[in-house]
Amino acid sequence: MDTSRDHFAAITTPAGSVVVVPFLTEQQAADVAAQYGPPTEPLPPRVEAAEGQKDCVPCEGKGHWYEKVETTTPSGATVVTQKRVNCRPCRGTGKLPA
Ligand SMILES: [Zn+2]
Repeated sequence: MDTSRDHFAAITTPAGSVVVVPFLTEQQAADVAAQYGPPTEPLPPRVEAAEGQKDCVPCEGKGHWYEKVETTTPSGATVVTQKRVNCRPCRGTGKLPA
């Protein structure tokens, strides 16, 4: 059994997505870590809602939610990411107009 490829890379993007890449050598895992980290993109500014507005229903007042996205790379690895989806009804504010 080849134990040199038992490393994996778990990548967390600035938006909170987690990418796991299995079956890597230690060097490959380090390369992936160097490529993806540390996060440099700033988080989107939080929009303050005006008084009298109600919590948005689809996003439960958060302004966004996450959808699971699974893709397979040419080398056969499966990459599962959590894609951040901004809420459209409230435009990411988490509040609906009164
Ligand atoms: Zn919403």
